[in-house]
Amino acid sequence: MSHDPNCIFCKIVAGQIPSKKVFEDEDVLAFHDINPWAPVHLLVIPKRHIASMADVTDAEAALLGKMVALGPKLMKDLGVTNGFRHVINTGPDGGQEVYHLHLHVMGGPRPWLKG
Ligand code: ADP
Repeated sequence: MSHDPNCIFCKIVAGQIPSKKVFEDEDVLAFHDINPWAPVHLLVIPKRHIASMADVTDAEAALLGKMVALGPKLMKDLGVTNGFRHVINTGPDGGQEVYHLHLHVMGGPRPWLKG
C-alpha cells in the first residue's frame, strides 16, 4: 500500500494534516515532532506507507539510507552542532505508537535524553 487513508503520517504527506516541514523530496518528508523530547526533535518518514521496520526489505535499503543520511544535514541546518541521536521504534515492545515508519532525529543541549 503506498497510501493508507487512516494513517496520520500519510495524511501529513498528503497535506491533510498540518506539519512543520523542514525537508521534502519525492521519497521522504521531515518535520518537527509535535511532542518533542529534545530541543530539536525531527521525524523523517518515507512518503510511501511502510508500517514499520518489520516491513522493510532489501528493496528499501536506498530509501533507509537516504532517511538516515538526512539527519546530520538537517541538524546542521537547524544549528545543532554538538551531537544528536537517531531512534527508530518498532512494534509494541519497541514502543512504536504510529505505524508509519519514522526515524526520530533528536538534538540540542542536554539534559533531555530518555533511556
Ligand atoms: P512514541 O510516541 O513512543 O515516540 P513512535 O516512535 O511511534 O512512538 O513516535 C511517534 C511520534 O509521532 C511521537 O514522538 C509523536 O509525538 C509524534 N507525532 C504524532 N502525531 C504527530 C503529528 N501530527 N505531527 C508531528 N508529530 C506527531
